[in-house]
Amino acid sequence: MRIFDPHIHMTSRTTDDYEAMRAAGVRAVVEPAFWLGQPRTAPATFRDYFDSLLGWEPFRAAQYGIAHHCTIALNPKEANDPRCLPVLDELPRWLVKDRVVAVGEIGYDAMTPAEDKALAAQLQLAADHGLPALVHTPHRDKLAGLRRTLDAVRESALGTERVLLDHLNETTVEEAKDSGCWLGFSVYPDTKMDEARMVALLKAYGPERVLVNSAADWGRSDPLKTRKVGDLMLAEGFSEDDVDRVLWRNPVEFYGMSGRLVLDVAATAPTHEGNSVLRGGE
Ligand SMILES: [Zn+2]
Repeated sequence: MRIFDPHIHMTSRTTDDYEAMRAAGVRAVVEPAFWLGQPRTAPATFRDYFDSLLGWEPFRAAQYGIAHHCTIALNPKEANDPRCLPVLDELPRWLVKDRVVAVGEIGYDAMTPAEDKALAAQLQLAADHGLPALVHTPHRDKLAGLRRTLDAVRESALGTERVLLDHLNETTVEEAKDSGCWLGFSVYPDTKMDEARMVALLKAYGPERVLVNSAADWGRSDPLKTRKVGDLMLAEGFSEDDVDRVLWRNPVEFYGMSGRLVLDVAATAPTHEGNSVLRGGE
């Protein structure tokens, strides 16, 4: 089973995780820029973080034979912090980089006017840079959050076929599917979506445009959830081709719209020295 985890925060994970992921079949990941838990106090801390997503983390992943790409954005939560907003003006410096395969994760957290503004601005940046967008849907008020997200997408210059809506569940899947966007599901250890519910959704709605991720980060999470979904799909009667479509070909097709996906790790493995070359300002 070959696996592409389209949403995982490897910065927060250990080398044990990389080893276990590789053994489970993970060959590629996308790491979205997000909130580190500790609030940032200045735009400069984003610069170092974005550089690490483009330099240090792909270097670490390559040690385990895993191709690493990232998405770059001001995350929804910190869109509410005036100390962070200036980074919006700096994003174009990173959005032109080779390993950046989407703008993300963007979207709504508490659905504030500040989040409206940051979302609209970043959907426009995606359109301007020919990139797709990874759009997180809020964990509270899910259906209202999805509808407001879809309004923002429809008002933007980005077609729905270039948008991946993430953290979907039973309450949001139908409207999300009807929108023409790609459908992302994050499978967690004990809350929100689990693998049995995920497989039930695949039975009900089919594998078209569906991506499954672990969204593993600094909280309780499991970087092997993608594999566990694949195993359960097979046990419940899905074909190996269906599993390959959901866990490999769909993410390859979605992020491939960037024109920047390189899945041959050996050909592209960054060196540690490469970090300085990758710095955003140069
Ligand atoms: Zn995330």
